[in-house]
Formats: sequence, structure tokens, C-alpha cells
Amino acid sequence: MKVHVIGGGVIGLCSAYYLQKAGHEVTILDKGDFLAGCSFGNAGMIVPSHFVPLASPGVIAKGLRWMFSASSPFYIKPRLDLQLAQWLWHFYRACTPEKVRSAMPIIRDLNQGSRLLYQALSAELAVPFDLENKGLLMMFRTPKGEKEEVGGAEMANELGVKAKVLTASEIANLEKGTQLQARGGVLYPGDSHLSPHLFMKAMVTQLEAAGVKFLPKTSLTAWETQKGQITHLQTDSGERIKVEQVVLAAGSWSQKILQSLGITMPIQDGKGYSITLSSPNERPSIPSILSEDKVAITPMGEDLRFGGTLELGGMSRKVNPKRVQGIINSLPQYYPNIHLPHQRDVDIWVGFRPCSPDGLPYIGRSNQVPNLVLAGGHAMMGMSLGPITGKLIAEIISEQKPSIDLSLLQPERYG
Ligand SMILES: Cc1cc2nc3c(=O)[nH]c(=O)nc-3n(C[C@H](O)[C@H](O)[C@H](O)COP(=O)(O)OP(=O)(O)OC[C@H]3O[C@@H](n4cnc5c(N)ncnc54)[C@H](O)[C@@H]3O)c2cc1C
Repeated sequence: MKVHVIGGGVIGLCSAYYLQKAGHEVTILDKGDFLAGCSFGNAGMIVPSHFVPLASPGVIAKGLRWMFSASSPFYIKPRLDLQLAQWLWHFYRACTPEKVRSAMPIIRDLNQGSRLLYQALSAELAVPFDLENKGLLMMFRTPKGEKEEVGGAEMANELGVKAKVLTASEIANLEKGTQLQARGGVLYPGDSHLSPHLFMKAMVTQLEAAGVKFLPKTSLTAWETQKGQITHLQTDSGERIKVEQVVLAAGSWSQKILQSLGITMPIQDGKGYSITLSSPNERPSIPSILSEDKVAITPMGEDLRFGGTLELGGMSRKVNPKRVQGIINSLPQYYPNIHLPHQRDVDIWVGFRPCSPDGLPYIGRSNQVPNLVLAGGHAMMGMSLGPITGKLIAEIISEQKPSIDLSLLQPERYG
């Protein structure tokens, strides 16, 4: 079958990979060059440890408190925006213990399936991408953080995700050559990490060699439909591309693109920042998340990347220096010896996480437009869930039974 994939982030590239492997003739188009965007500068964590969706009990109260601190890890830009209001309403309704309980097993299964696929990909792709299986360390410095993380570890073990609670002295002895201090932490040994920019390059190289057609700097501007099916894609270069099957994987841009088809798939852009230090004086080997500050730190080859914040700001690329400083200031509390540069001396990368209101991705065929398959809304887990999403998309297009039950992920679940 001929398949056109719109969007060349990690979700689009992984979809193209498994579609091509399943024998389909794949073309992938992106408004950029396939080597930028949210999938490029993220923290590269592959996280079976993250089975609790963003929308969960207690998160709204915490979010409201954070809204009043300029350097906090969360912010919503107040504005009159119907899509934002609707998204927040759905988010609020998803924050119940029942909804979270039903979401957790599917997020776990997606994550564990994807991690296995990454292990296979490290052998399949010709270009290495720094995949390491060192686990993930969640560290805390306050009694409140401890309660949250230890509670999370108990839930993880109940759900079959291994988690080990560590004392302050166990943390201090964990790394050779890097000084580490915390009140305590939880080690998730089943997590992995990689260099996202290398993974994206490895994918592009592999797909090009396998004959996938790339259309860079090509933006989808309009759909042409007939009898409810998409017949052509119109692009900014004035081209009309005839299509059979279409996969939309346009990240935070997806909701807007779907509007003219009458499809509602709420997505807000969760803006985050990252900074990469080349050859830092100390480089931990295990990635970590600083629980109270929501900052992620990942060793990538010889480099060290750290990042965080989630701002719902309406796709503004503007960097908020106070929030960036909040990220930088959190590091010495755990890694007292790492030399940190002044923020004016570093490149600050900005990315938009495509966030669904209930914290579950959208994966499935559209009910309204039968030759359209949707893949998006992976929020803070898009890098982790790229391969499993791609595999599921290939199964859907090939009309096979999906290897994971997709009923909770139906893209048109909001009407
Ligand atoms: C600071 C930060 C840290 C993160 N850390 C992690 C992590 O450690 N682990 C993890 O799993 N995830 C992480 N994430 C989340 C992850 O990066 C995202 O979930 C993921 O990149 C989303 O991938 P995507 O392919 O859906 O979207 P994108 O990567 O945004 O790709 C969408 C593509 O669609 C293209 N596009 C848009 N509109 C059009 C159009 N009209 N025509 C053609 N092309 C179009 C865009 O150019 C873009 O290339 C992090 C995110 C941030 C911001």
C-alpha cells in the first residue's frame, strides 16, 4: 500500500520505519528538515518508570501553586483561547483515581514494549545512537518529595515495574567520579536512555537506504477529500499529492491541521527547555530526575543534557530566562561539583511536547476519515513511545490486530 506520513518527528520516523518493514511504499513529509523539532533536543529517557499519566489527582493543586512562581517548572499563559479552555476541562475530568488506574497498565505496556523495540533497533540500525540500559534515578531532597517518590515506587512494584528505594548514603556511593547528594531516591533499573539527535539521524539514514521517499521543507496546507476519504494533500509549494493511506504525526501542530476535516483531537503544546554541556567536568552515568524541580539530567555520549519546565503558552518559542534559571539552579543541590555556565553562554533548546488532556497518546484509525491514521499526543513520553507507536501504526495500516489493546487511545475520544 502507498502510505504518506505527515510529520518527521520521532513518531513519524518510527511509523515510516515499521510501515516500510511491513512492505508498504512510504513517503514522509515535514515542514522542516527531519533533524529539528521536539524529538531532537529532548532528554532521551526511555521510561517504563513513567506509568502515571500527567493528569492525575493532586496535580491541579500543585500546578496552581507553581503558577505563582516565576521559576517553577509549570506555567499556563493566561489567554482567551477556546481550545485551551476545552483542553483544561478534559484535563480536569481526567484527574480522578479511577481514570488514572485504568490508564496506568496501558502506559506501562506501551513503555515496556517500546523499550524492547529500542533494544532490537540498536542492532538493526546501521548508525549507533548511544542506547544505554543504566536505569533512571528519581531523587528527592524534601520529606514531601520522599513521600511522593516512595509512594510511586510502591505503586510501580505493584504494577510489575521494578523500583528500589535508595538511602542518602546509597545515592552518595552510586556514581564513580561524580559527587551526588540527595535525601534519597528511587532507582528504576528497567529504564534506558539514548541521544535523541543521533537516533533521529540513524532513522533518517536507515529509511533513506531502505527507499523511503523524503519530502523536506514541505508543509501540508490543505486536504482534498471525496466521499469522506482523503484523495490529495496540498502543500505550501503548490503541489497536489495523490494519496491512498495517510498517517498524521505532526506533534503539537496536529489539532490545527485536523480542524478542516472536522476531527477533534485536543493537543496543547507543553513547551520545555534543554541545555547540553559538552564534556562537563563531571558526568554522571545514570540519568536522573530531580523530583521537586522536575528537572531531567541525561548523560549523552561525552555530553550532559539537562532540561525541564512545561509551559502551555500557545506555541511561543520565546525563552523565559527565569524558568531556565530555575532549571540551572536545581542542579548544584544534587550535583555540587558540576561546573555550570551562565545561561547567556549556552544555547537553550526549545521544544513543544504534544500533550493530550488525559496523558494518553492518540493512536488509531479515524472513524470519520477511514484512510487517515492518527498518532500523537505523547507529551513527555514521545521519545520513549516512538517505536511501539510506529509498530502499532504499521499494524493498523496493514489491517492486523494491534499487538496492544488501543481502545483507550482512540484519537476521536473527545467527540
Ligand atoms: C525538554 C523536553 C524533554 C523531553 N524529554 C523526553 C524524554 O526524556 N523522554 C521522552 O520519551 N520524551 C521526552 N520529551 C517529549 C518528546 O520529545 C516528545 O513527546 C516527542 O518528541 C514528540 O514527537 P512527535 O513526533 O509527536 O512530535 P515532533 O517531534 O514535534 O514532530 C512533529 C513534526 O511534524 C512536523 N509538522 C508540523 N506541522 C506540519 C505540516 N503542516 N506539514 C508537515 N509537517 C508538519 C513538524 O515540523 C515536526 O517535525 C521531552 C520533551 C521536551 C520538550
